[in-house]
Amino acid sequence: MPSAAALDVLASRSSGLETGEYTRRLAKHGPNRLPEPPKRSPLLRFLSQFNNALIYFLLAGAAAAAALGHVIDTGVILAVILVNAIVGFIQEGKAESALAAIRDMIAPKASVLRDGKRISVPMADLVPGDVVLIEAGDRVPADLRLLRARNLRVDEAILTGESVATTKTTDPVLASAALGDRTSMAFSGTLVATGQGTGVVCATGLETEIGRISALLSSVEELTTPLLRQINRFGQRFTRFALIGAAVLFAFAVGFRDFGWSDALMAVVALAVSLVPEGLPAVITITLAIGVQRMATRNAVIRRLPAVETLGATSVICSDKTGTLTRNEMTARRVVTPGHATFVEGGGYDPGEHRLFDDSGSRAPEGHATTLSLIRTGLLCNDARLRVDGGEWHVEGDPMEGALVTLALKASFDPENERAEWPRLDDIPFDAGHRFMATLHRMPLGEHVVLVKGAPEAVLAMCDRQEGTAGAAPLDHGFWSDRIAEAAAQGERVLGFAMRHVTDTTDRIDFPDVESGLVFLGIVGFIDPPRAEAIAAIAECRSAGIEVRMITGDHTATASAIAHQLGLGENPAVLSGSDLDRLSGEEFTKAVRETTVFARTSPEHKLRIVQALQAEGRVVAMTGDGVNDAPSLKQADVGVAMGIKGTEAAKQSSEMVLMDDNFASIVAAVQEGRTVHDNIRKVVGWTLPTNGGEALTVVVAILFGFALPMSPVQILWVNLILAATLGLALAFEPSEPGVMRRKPRRPDAGLLTPFILWRIVFVSFLFAGISLGVFFWVLGQGRDLETARTMVVNMLVVLEIFYLFSVRYLHMTSFTLTGVKGTNAVLIALAAVILGQLAFTYLPFMNTIFGSRPLTLVEGGIILAIGAASFVLLEVEKHLLRDRFAKE
Ligand code: ADP
Ligand code: MG
Repeated sequence: MPSAAALDVLASRSSGLETGEYTRRLAKHGPNRLPEPPKRSPLLRFLSQFNNALIYFLLAGAAAAAALGHVIDTGVILAVILVNAIVGFIQEGKAESALAAIRDMIAPKASVLRDGKRISVPMADLVPGDVVLIEAGDRVPADLRLLRARNLRVDEAILTGESVATTKTTDPVLASAALGDRTSMAFSGTLVATGQGTGVVCATGLETEIGRISALLSSVEELTTPLLRQINRFGQRFTRFALIGAAVLFAFAVGFRDFGWSDALMAVVALAVSLVPEGLPAVITITLAIGVQRMATRNAVIRRLPAVETLGATSVICSDKTGTLTRNEMTARRVVTPGHATFVEGGGYDPGEHRLFDDSGSRAPEGHATTLSLIRTGLLCNDARLRVDGGEWHVEGDPMEGALVTLALKASFDPENERAEWPRLDDIPFDAGHRFMATLHRMPLGEHVVLVKGAPEAVLAMCDRQEGTAGAAPLDHGFWSDRIAEAAAQGERVLGFAMRHVTDTTDRIDFPDVESGLVFLGIVGFIDPPRAEAIAAIAECRSAGIEVRMITGDHTATASAIAHQLGLGENPAVLSGSDLDRLSGEEFTKAVRETTVFARTSPEHKLRIVQALQAEGRVVAMTGDGVNDAPSLKQADVGVAMGIKGTEAAKQSSEMVLMDDNFASIVAAVQEGRTVHDNIRKVVGWTLPTNGGEALTVVVAILFGFALPMSPVQILWVNLILAATLGLALAFEPSEPGVMRRKPRRPDAGLLTPFILWRIVFVSFLFAGISLGVFFWVLGQGRDLETARTMVVNMLVVLEIFYLFSVRYLHMTSFTLTGVKGTNAVLIALAAVILGQLAFTYLPFMNTIFGSRPLTLVEGGIILAIGAASFVLLEVEKHLLRDRFAKE
């Protein structure tokens, strides 16, 4: 169907729907959304908690205990299994919903015409009949019949599997055409590779082509990372090892130490449970999820969970300049034409009463015809609009283009009037690859004119003449390169302007039309101040051993001046894209190693720079916003897309999206990434020796054939109460004060540093030694076995509490006020453990179940004193050994 007929069928117009009609249609068709892929039902999720080797083993133990008539033991084992499952279920649910909430933060938007105005709405708000604008980098928001297609190519791999982008036109195709041949349509979910277009929505939600095969579109992130997989594998292997060990120990206990076989069975079941860190994967998932949440509150949204780990190891950040390191609040400062230099008053987008002045201080640009046509070119070769909101001036669109509108207002132009008198017929949009934008207009007298703005070198290359006092004169290259250098040395961003009258009355332009024969009008210099936060963040990177590389499409001198202002070095060396092109493999790598600032680069250079850095073993974070940044974002270890000015294509290729486009947010995310890694180490560093100490105590007793210092149910109790409380508290630890004063961790460094490995051994033996010491000392006092065991259980728990405080700071002493106060999570966990232990020790029914006995105040005091002494010992040990092990 021709596009006009399509509009008729959909009862729409090329200027879009009216608000009233839109509301009616939304009620009728519902939101433009695919149903969420089915979630695992809560019941299934709960049941899956039981699906692990250790639980099977425990169930077998419970069955054996029941068969032997040990009712209490059976009950306790079953309770342990149940509580374990509940804790795992809740933790997993929390982590899942935390990640889901963050997914919503980067829900894509669509540009749509409503009541004749272009607005941006969530994709879900589209209805059939809406007229939608798409451009390179966008994801097509619904199925569209194209009304206008300009160099439009769409990547339809998601629908057709065809990876070469399809060229789209507005010509009708046969009704029988296959999906890949329907060139007059743009389908929902596909990505615009180049160009721009407009289309009318003809299907939304489930009615779209992608909706019909919606099974394809489950974008749900898996809750797993390389580290988690590593830990899961470790857990499985460890479980197997523990089970075999338990079997051997069982045989030994029955064969060589006269344990009754049912007692021996109970003992080794409990032992295996205490040894296997079954809760570890869940706690680590939580730690990652908390990291993701913290990053989100600091404007860094994680799209792929493994990035949380990688961020912490980042050693180089490659960043765009404009908008990321600078504020992207542009103000035109100077306008230079062949005969005149003009300076502009004021800042921001509000033109106010500010005017233009020339060298002599007199009002400009009255009478400067070239200056006026340059400013008009800036106004017309422009897609931005200014909007006044409660007295505040804002720009919609590109800030530099907004600044050109402000410039026109200061020069007393009336934008609406000019746009009406010089209607735009066609355009070549700006692209970071070719670095200019061109538009074709009909002038008031009917003649056609091409207006161009762009990087001055790019524009100068198209010109052979410049505007002069007496008509066009030959181009004075020397003059312009001096003027450009002057402005750029001040850190100004420079644009060049040119025009050409066209004799034929074509209403299309293409690249050949602007290749040559243009008349140069002059340049405009803009200031774009550095972000204060970026300056601070760069300083922080320096102390954190992270290198910063600035990669910009801007002029070499501008880049150098801004880099200087940002603290990236005194007059830092700058390599330009063409310099890079001349370098071969080896030289290129060397240049990338030694250079901080790269200017006049195109997106392809970014890819080579990332690869060169990675070849040297660096972990690279790279920012990007355009479609052609996708390859480098994918290549980088952490691809960082801009949330505000970034395209959908860039976001889909990235690991992380910045909600505020701010460099400082990357550094904040790195800090949180390091904290997550620290916390995982803390969780592991606390859990393993805790399990080790418990298990060792029992193994020694069996090997030497004396009474067990803890009964099997008591072992289960300790395991249960600690896993549900203290084990989790470390996931919530804030950053240690020095996180950003350390070098990045080596990417190949294992989770268990030599220091942590040493501690696992040392603390296991320490705890086992203390527990056994207490056990024999109490028995030696003539007390009964029950009291001695109660002492041991309490001793172990108290040791683990003190050890927790020691582990909270791996890199410094815990003897500080904040160190002792603890976080809310720690305090809540502490309160729960203490209540649990008091119940265990003093409640009569607990005494019956667990065979425990009330202790005296003095006994309690002794336990606390020993715990405190162990804390001091561990702090001294940390102080003495930490630095020796620090060479990780
Ligand atoms: P940056 O790395 O600073 O974001 P870009 O790649 O966006 O640089 O732009 C490179 C150059 O292209 C700029 O220095 C400027 O000269 C030119 N340029 C940028 N935006 C536009 C635009 N909207 N229209 C014309 N030229 C532009
Ligand atoms: Mg840019």
